[in-house]
Amino acid sequence: MAKHNKRIKMDRRTFLQLLAGTSAVGLSGIGSITAVQAKPVTTNARIVIVGAGAAGVSLANRVARETEGAQITVIDRTTRHVYQPGLTLVATGTWQASKVIDINSAYMPSKVNWLQEMVAEYHPSQNRVVTDQGTQVAYDYLLIATGLHVDFDAIEGMSSELIGQHGIGCVYDSPEHAERTWSALESFSKTGGKAVYTRGAGGIKCAGAPLKVTMLSEHYFRRENVRDNIEMVYNSPSAGLFSQPDINMFLKEHFPERGIQLNWHRRLVAIEPERKVATFTTPEGNEQQDYDFIHVVPPMRAPDSLGQSDLAWQEGNFAADGNWLEVDRHTMRHRRYPNVFGAGDCVGTPIGKTAASVKAQVPVVVRNLLRVLDGKHPDATYNGYTSCPLVTEQGQAILVEFDYDLNMVPSFGFINPLKAGWVPWLMKDYMLQGAYNAMLRGRV
Ligand SMILES: Cc1cc2nc3c(=O)[nH]c(=O)nc-3n(C[C@H](O)[C@H](O)[C@H](O)COP(=O)(O)OP(=O)(O)OC[C@H]3O[C@@H](n4cnc5c(N)ncnc54)[C@H](O)[C@@H]3O)c2cc1C
Repeated sequence: MAKHNKRIKMDRRTFLQLLAGTSAVGLSGIGSITAVQAKPVTTNARIVIVGAGAAGVSLANRVARETEGAQITVIDRTTRHVYQPGLTLVATGTWQASKVIDINSAYMPSKVNWLQEMVAEYHPSQNRVVTDQGTQVAYDYLLIATGLHVDFDAIEGMSSELIGQHGIGCVYDSPEHAERTWSALESFSKTGGKAVYTRGAGGIKCAGAPLKVTMLSEHYFRRENVRDNIEMVYNSPSAGLFSQPDINMFLKEHFPERGIQLNWHRRLVAIEPERKVATFTTPEGNEQQDYDFIHVVPPMRAPDSLGQSDLAWQEGNFAADGNWLEVDRHTMRHRRYPNVFGAGDCVGTPIGKTAASVKAQVPVVVRNLLRVLDGKHPDATYNGYTSCPLVTEQGQAILVEFDYDLNMVPSFGFINPLKAGWVPWLMKDYMLQGAYNAMLRGRV
């Protein structure tokens, strides 16, 4: 499989400056709060962490380091760790899949008991969870970091097995399927035709990823000199492309400039792989679109065991759109069960399904947990910080950083957040994986 990576040359000084700066990305949202205690808190509390992804492993490391005597259990069967922010680069031919695959045991602190099962039931009024193997695990404090469920079943005719066949791509599944997406894009570029891009409605992880796949494939078609043979259509489920208004305005101009047609209020509800026809809902009724390549982005929601438990939001938008975990958006503490906290993609907050949000949320959760263990009130607050290098083409990106109020909160004064440049691309291509791994170890 051919890769189309164009490497950028960078001198050592620039590299070191960026390396130092990159660990700051994702920290600016924490304000003055620091989770690192001068002295570990001594406790014999049973602390259970559900999920061993970006948030769960990072929580485990910080809690292990900042407590003494706690009985810490992590529950998750998954042993492989995927660096998900790299999937966009795998699906568009820049990285090999192997670059994003790691193992959780390399990051799991020795102090924790890792139970390799999945939580099937939550009983928050009895302070216990039950796994799919029937193991009962009692806790004094519960930290939930289960990530989310990508709901392929919400699209009639779709399954993750179809990725890479019949011109179907999807960046939101495994590294292997991201690589198959790249194969599908490559084959399509040779024949040309119509490329259809979609985005699931509601909260999705890295809302920039569907846009990045669209822009990176457009750039690839141009570089292959096949752009004239290809019609590109992006279907948005709403009337915009991005929640942050300045970025939304930038993209609404940028896409048409690149010849990408924009359709509003289109939700993908069915796909016929053999006929290559996709069905969308629109305010005027259903609409069918033929395609030769389609990028499928399903809606996403909390994993069922969490979403159907009493820990999920019971009403309002966060219940209707995904059954997300009910937490106070600032303290990350459950609003009805004070010994429960949440971090990562599973939480029902207005902003923040990114690794950058995880990086900002985890120290807040740990700080507040330690305060509660110490008989004090939580005082750390998460301001909704989220960030993503929004790649516009190979070698170019804009660094998007904003908070709950949709205000831009740039970490680097020298980067214009509304102008594509090579520095954010270098971060994406070279730097952020190192910062992510440091986050897993609870170091940044
Ligand atoms: C294509 C793509 C591009 C992205 N790009 C970026 C980017 O550029 N920048 C950025 O900051 N972020 C990006 N992200 C988002 C980022 O990867 C996620 O926000 C982050 O991984 C969320 O961490 P998490 O711990 O909440 O979930 P995950 O890392 O997904 O981990 C969840 C864990 O919970 C476990 N689990 C689930 N259910 C249970 C259960 N019942 N019992 C026990 N364990 C359970 C799972 O097995 C999994 O190990 C991207 C994501 C994707 C998919």
